[in-house]
Amino acid sequence: MMNSLAISAAAEANPSSTIDQLRSDFRQWLTDNADELERFRSLPTDMEGIFATLSAMQRVMYDAGWIRLGWSANVEGLGGPPALRAVVSEELAEAGYPPPFSFAVQEVLGPAIERYAPAELSAEVLPRLLRGEEAWCQGFSEPGSGSDLGSLRTKAIDAGDHWIVNGEKIWTSWAQNADRCVLLVRTGTPDSAHRGITALFVDMDTPGIEISPLTAITGEQDFSSLFFKDVKVPKTRTLGEVGGGWEFSMFVLSCERGAAAWQRQAWMRWRLRRLVADAPHIADARVGEAFELISALRLLSRRTLRSLSNGETVGVLPSFDKYLMSTAEKFLFDSALAAIPERVLAASDREADDWRHDYLYSRASSIYGGAKEIQRNIIAERILGLPREK
Ligand SMILES: Cc1cc2nc3c(=O)[nH]c(=O)nc-3n(C[C@H](O)[C@H](O)[C@H](O)COP(=O)(O)OP(=O)(O)OC[C@H]3O[C@@H](n4cnc5c(N)ncnc54)[C@H](O)[C@@H]3O)c2cc1C
Repeated sequence: MMNSLAISAAAEANPSSTIDQLRSDFRQWLTDNADELERFRSLPTDMEGIFATLSAMQRVMYDAGWIRLGWSANVEGLGGPPALRAVVSEELAEAGYPPPFSFAVQEVLGPAIERYAPAELSAEVLPRLLRGEEAWCQGFSEPGSGSDLGSLRTKAIDAGDHWIVNGEKIWTSWAQNADRCVLLVRTGTPDSAHRGITALFVDMDTPGIEISPLTAITGEQDFSSLFFKDVKVPKTRTLGEVGGGWEFSMFVLSCERGAAAWQRQAWMRWRLRRLVADAPHIADARVGEAFELISALRLLSRRTLRSLSNGETVGVLPSFDKYLMSTAEKFLFDSALAAIPERVLAASDREADDWRHDYLYSRASSIYGGAKEIQRNIIAERILGLPREK
């Protein structure tokens, strides 16, 4: 068995054969460390407990080197293509472990910080994220600016060596547990649309930030409203060019639709196996269709990940991945509701709670990361070349 350092070196020379090697070595590591990892299989139910457990899991994986694969030496990574990380997240899900919390954040925001942040900033903050020492949130959406992100109004005024930020964000996932926020602000004129947006990296304990948690349909307070009142952000925390926030946000969204969809399909495969175990009477046709949808997502997502891993621009193509991700997720949990309604709706043991939670959360899959109707518009107009809506 190679260790993670040797794998990253080999991956530079021969990525595809190294991916097979990594898969079998990581599986072996999971087996060898099963006793130590057992405490991570089932998560606490409270947010603080979830964060603490997943941070601890992340630290174990960081120390073994797995989480450092595919990141550059500047951020204390071990190098190699980012596709190596996809193997780790997939195998983890296959073995029935939850994804470390920051996996989603790492794959959505991490690559953007590595690409757009000043080198000193990414060298300081990315290793802390990878080690599970801090959590980040994504402050893009505003009341009235979700699908239409180009209309956002949170304003940053140039005050010499820093920005002064005023405004409001909404639906910011895990903001109350976050140490940092990747924030989109308007630095151009009010009518500058997508040309006048800039991305900033903001410490969540900066004076002037108020966090107001919102309760989701699951009963959890896993997102918040954020209020910014005269918040000072050093110019050294600007991500990319002033006015380059649109390009930044499109890159973030391509990562979200790429790597996050990949993790989600791996998790769905595992969830489908649980469903078959919990509902042996479930109709074969249902299982078949769920498997088909998840497998199709896997293939699309693999193409996106390969392109991203090779440094290619994926453009709007991952709208297909996002569209299929929510179709597959909703179908899977609709199937659970149809097959074991009493468990999903009424039972109160831990597994039933998980089914209910995941069914309810699946409703959001056609909203977060870009609503399904918007993906349909993008596919119709920008990929298929159909006429634009008036
Ligand atoms: C669980 C969850 C977590 C989230 N986490 C975050 C986060 O961490 N950070 C963050 O910034 N945001 C987050 N969001 C917000 C999410 O990105 C937005 O909800 C999403 O982009 C939709 O925006 P909106 O809510 O303003 O809805 P709107 O844009 O107002 O859309 C409402 C409805 O109208 C439809 N619609 C809008 N415009 C069109 C059009 N042109 N054509 C056809 N239909 C249209 C939409 O598809 C949707 O069905 C999260 C949302 C959820 C549900």
